[in-house]
Amino acid sequence: MEAKTKEIGSSVDVKFIDRSSWLRAAVLGANDAILSTASIAIGVAAGTDTRDFIILATLAGLVAGALSMTASKFVSICSQTDTEKAEIERERIELVESPELEMLELAGIYEKRGLKKETAIQVAKEFTEKDALAAHVRDELGINKISQPKPLQSALSAGAAFIMGGSLSLMVTIFLPEKSMVYTLYGSGIFSLIILGVVTAKTGGSSVWKAITRITLWGTLVMGTSAFVGYLFGMNM
Ligand SMILES: [Zn+2]
Repeated sequence: MEAKTKEIGSSVDVKFIDRSSWLRAAVLGANDAILSTASIAIGVAAGTDTRDFIILATLAGLVAGALSMTASKFVSICSQTDTEKAEIERERIELVESPELEMLELAGIYEKRGLKKETAIQVAKEFTEKDALAAHVRDELGINKISQPKPLQSALSAGAAFIMGGSLSLMVTIFLPEKSMVYTLYGSGIFSLIILGVVTAKTGGSSVWKAITRITLWGTLVMGTSAFVGYLFGMNM
């Protein structure tokens, strides 16, 4: 009963997400890295004129961000996999204990998806005969058993993407003129966010302009706030 809200079309979604999970993790990691590293650098640059401080803070933010991104990604994927395994195990037990009820439950799911009652029961019966557990896991739990996300692969690609995404800001703090650093950091941050957003939108087939607008607004808000806080703090030092 509790699976009713996620049953429609979920087997298709899960399949899709799983196949590109490491890529999604990498894109999210890079996005997060660009915005957070640029914001740290901007905040410190707005508060101090000492380049060493800016570099040190940016480097610390980059390293901490990459490590925490890797660790949290790994932990979250593992706990999701554990939950799925537990759900599958519970389904296996239910199938042994009350096979008739489980068949009717499956039929109910198909009926809700638009089949006639008789057809739904017929389909549920055939799936149950073929592989009852597979049908329940797929259509009731919405889990695609065959292609589980790979936790280590996703975690490492997210961490690597974080380092790549954040290094641009670090380069800016090391090599570009200090005077205009807040603006070059903002510019390079928005620029790389937009490039990433455009690539993502193009691959996903969604609107490029919507992505650009969203990224620019949020990026400006986040980096602007960081600059403001750094500036206020710098005035009082
Ligand atoms: Zn079931």
